[in-house]
Amino acid sequence: MSEPDPSETLFERIIAREIPADIVEETTTTLAFRDISPQAATHVLVVPKTRYRDVGELAAADPALLADVIATAHRVADLDGLVESGYRVVFNTGADAGQTVFHVHAHVLGGEQLGFFGRYQEKPDEG
Ligand code: AMP
Repeated sequence: MSEPDPSETLFERIIAREIPADIVEETTTTLAFRDISPQAATHVLVVPKTRYRDVGELAAADPALLADVIATAHRVADLDGLVESGYRVVFNTGADAGQTVFHVHAHVLGGEQLGFFGRYQEKPDEG
């Protein structure tokens, strides 16, 4: 097996099937897989197959691809039966928002009553 390219993000390696993920949906332009550390009953990440650093870069460069990401997020919510009960789509963008992987991704959260969000609080498993 060839050495991993250090400029590649984790998500490019998941898209390339170089590392495993629990994939729930794939389109020609997007991939959706379950978050390895779920923060809700449903916690799925949706990524465009083309890499942009964050949602602002994606929106500026390719708005149609951003629409594809949102459409896949809605499809994932539908597959998990969340459309009636409701769900949340989050794009963490930059340091204060806690973005850790710099390949834009939508978090799709739902399947239970979600908490409020905004100001910093420790994750339950860290406290
Ligand atoms: P963010 O903090 O918004 O950049 O989100 C990155 C997300 O990627 C976090 O919620 C992590 O739990 C998730 N994550 C990290 N590694 C993996 C992986 N191998 N498979 C699935 N999700 C992952």
